[in-house]
Amino acid sequence: MSAADRTKTGCRFCGTVLRHTFVDLGMSPLAESWLKPSQLNEMEPFYPLNVYVCERCFLVQLEEFESPEHIFSDYAYFSSYSQSWLQHAKAYVDMAIQRFGLNERSQVVEIASNDGYLLCNFVGKGIKVLGVEPAANVAKIAVERGIPTLVKLFGEQTARELVSEGAQEDLIVGNNVLAQVPSLNDFVQALKILLKPKGSITMEFPHLMQLIAKNEFDTIYHEHFSYLSFTTVENVFAAHGLVLYDVEELPTHGGSLRIFARHTEDVSKTVGQHVKELKAREKAAGFTCIETYLSFSDRVKETKRKLLDFLIRTKREGKSVAAYGAAAKGVTLLNYCGIRIDFIDYAVDLSPHKQGYFMPGVHIPIFHPDKIKETKPDYVLILPWNLKDEIMRQMACTGEWGGKFVVPIPEVTVFGPPL
Ligand SMILES: [Zn+2]
Repeated sequence: MSAADRTKTGCRFCGTVLRHTFVDLGMSPLAESWLKPSQLNEMEPFYPLNVYVCERCFLVQLEEFESPEHIFSDYAYFSSYSQSWLQHAKAYVDMAIQRFGLNERSQVVEIASNDGYLLCNFVGKGIKVLGVEPAANVAKIAVERGIPTLVKLFGEQTARELVSEGAQEDLIVGNNVLAQVPSLNDFVQALKILLKPKGSITMEFPHLMQLIAKNEFDTIYHEHFSYLSFTTVENVFAAHGLVLYDVEELPTHGGSLRIFARHTEDVSKTVGQHVKELKAREKAAGFTCIETYLSFSDRVKETKRKLLDFLIRTKREGKSVAAYGAAAKGVTLLNYCGIRIDFIDYAVDLSPHKQGYFMPGVHIPIFHPDKIKETKPDYVLILPWNLKDEIMRQMACTGEWGGKFVVPIPEVTVFGPPL
């Protein structure tokens, strides 16, 4: 059977038959499906993490195996548990209010607004907000904080309903949602519908150029349907009558882009120099050639071998390893590498919504971070490597017993007190 025969659908953007694999991480459970102790003896669904690249538009993408309602209906990620992410949101809001001249008459909507951690900064400034969030359990927390939140997956139908109720937005915010939408065309068309004639859209998403450059293959999971270059996103937005007029490169999530979009008809905002410069850089890096994408998977396999080498050596020396941060990227990494409690005793996470649960697939138990102080492991493997500085500060106590930190990506690196 050829790869083309195995795909149910064509490219999520342009419909071309998908024939090329970008990287194949094997079978993996849904990254956010934390298990209760009572579920450990039950069957667990695993789905392929085979990522394709479209030879026509270069959209790197996963097939849709599970309905988005199933994936997002009880999402356990609560944004408010990361301090650096909260600061990022606040800085964004300060920038947006100034740059877009927002005031009490403005309307701001955030797509995938999570627990309202970002919108609450606008509310504090008297600006009218609405959140759209598909996960009912997370949206409930936002509503309790006084952030009006619609429990829905955002798309053309939702946008039309909002417009018919009189909503049109000065600013549409979407942080870490563009890569997660299964129906990319429907989503971008919905942005077009909901945006005021002179309004702006900002979206943040992990930058594919950084994913490849920094070997961040563990940011691939079923909830992320698309892996986006600037060039491809510009083409997708253009197909729906939207122009990207500015872009910023951010350090978040291992390297993200923040794009600024407007209606094609709104010529009041000129396309900035950053847009031209980044497009030229992507072209020079080969992002408009299929060969660039096909060379990635060898590096991923080598990363797996290096991490297993380290863990095998460490365990042979009789040392103990705990994992910090039961992040989705950890689920991909540990499942792809086949790392279970044979290598890692347990994981810890600050979120009380994960404590007492087990990591999907690999069944590693999750505890409060205090567990590290109690058991004094020799190594703490930091799974959310994007937060490594924050975590190493938080857990500086490991130095008291000579414990070290290990970061697996881009390749195994040990940090810690000298022996
Ligand atoms: Zn395509």
